Amino acid sequence: MRPAIVLAAAVLVGLSWGRDCSADDSRRLLRPSPRVLMDPAVYYSPLLFTKKGEPKPGEWMAEHPEPRQSFSEYARSGPIRPTRGRHTLAISPVGPMSEEEKARLAVLREFLEAYYTLPVRIVKPLDLAGVTSRQRSIFGRTLRQYLTGDILHQILRPALPSDAMCLLGVTMEDLYPEPSWNYVFGQAMLTQRVGVYSLVRFYPTFWGRSETDAAMQKGLVRSLHTLVHETGHMFGVHHCQQYDCVMNGSNSLAESDTQPIHLCPVCLRKFRWDIGFDMIARYEALRKFYEAHGMKVEAAWVAKRIGQCRGEKVAAAGGQAVSPTREQTEKEHAPSPAT
Ligand SMILES: [Zn+2]
Ligand SMILES: [Zn+2]
Repeated sequence: MRPAIVLAAAVLVGLSWGRDCSADDSRRLLRPSPRVLMDPAVYYSPLLFTKKGEPKPGEWMAEHPEPRQSFSEYARSGPIRPTRGRHTLAISPVGPMSEEEKARLAVLREFLEAYYTLPVRIVKPLDLAGVTSRQRSIFGRTLRQYLTGDILHQILRPALPSDAMCLLGVTMEDLYPEPSWNYVFGQAMLTQRVGVYSLVRFYPTFWGRSETDAAMQKGLVRSLHTLVHETGHMFGVHHCQQYDCVMNGSNSLAESDTQPIHLCPVCLRKFRWDIGFDMIARYEALRKFYEAHGMKVEAAWVAKRIGQCRGEKVAAAGGQAVSPTREQTEKEHAPSPAT
C-alpha cells in the first residue's frame, strides 16, 4: 500500500474534523469569512500561472487518477478553519537534531507563518523511545528507520496542544510506513490533526555528498515546500490538477523539483476563503522571506503578483517561479509492492 494513497484517503476522512469543537472560542472564526467571489478578478488571474500539462508516464497524475476539487466543492466540504480558540500551527522536532538542524526548523516556522498567515509555534521536542524501528542497508551503510504509525499514535497525538489546528512532527530520522516499503517521506492522520515528515533525504549528507551551499539551499527549499504542501492537506485541500502549484501531487523528488512553491489561483482562493488573509499583505510577507533566504526567483515572481493584485500591468507567465519539492512516494531502489 502506498503511503501517499493513505494520505489522500485521510484527506477525505479529515474534512469534518473542524466540527468537533466544544469550547465557544473553538467555534468562532479567527477572521471574518472573506467574500472571495467578490474579490478583484486580478487576484485569481491566470496570467502569471502555468496550466498543468499532460502528465508523463510515471508522474503522479498518470499513476494516481484523483477527482478534481473545485473551489465550491472545497467550501462545501466543511474543511477545518482557524478559530479563535484553535488557530496555531504547531511544529515539534521528533528525534535528535543538531543545533544546525534546529536553526533550520526556525526557518521553516518563519515560512509557514508567512505562508498561512497564522501563528506557528515550535513546541517541545519529542523522542522516539518506544517507537518500532528497523535497520536497513543503503549505499553500504546501516540506517535506522522508524515506523510512522507508532509516531503518529504514540508520540504526536498525545502531544497535540489544545490551541493547535495541527501538530507537524519534523524529523531528521528516516521513516517507513509498513514493512513492505523501502521508506516514506511522511504520513499524516488528518482526522487526528497530526503528521510526521522526514527531511533527512532532502540534504546531501544522507546521500554521502558534501554540504555545498547549493545543496544545502536545495534541501532547505525542498523542506519548505514539503511543509507547506502537507500543511495544505491539513486544511482539507486536495491535490491540484489545474495549474503548476505547490499542491500538485508528486511521485518523485525529480517531479517535485519541477513544481513551484506558490499556490495557483484555484488553491489560493480556497485558502483565502478558509483562513481569511489579506492577499497583498500575505504576498508582502512572502517576498520578505524569499529575499531574506536567497530565493530570488520566488521573490521576483511574488513582486509581480503584488503589482498585479494592485492593478498594475504585468507580463504574462514564462519567468514564473519553479521551486523544488517532493512527495510521499519516491522509492529508494525498486518499486515497493503496490496494493
Ligand atoms: Zn500531497
Ligand atoms: Zn493549485
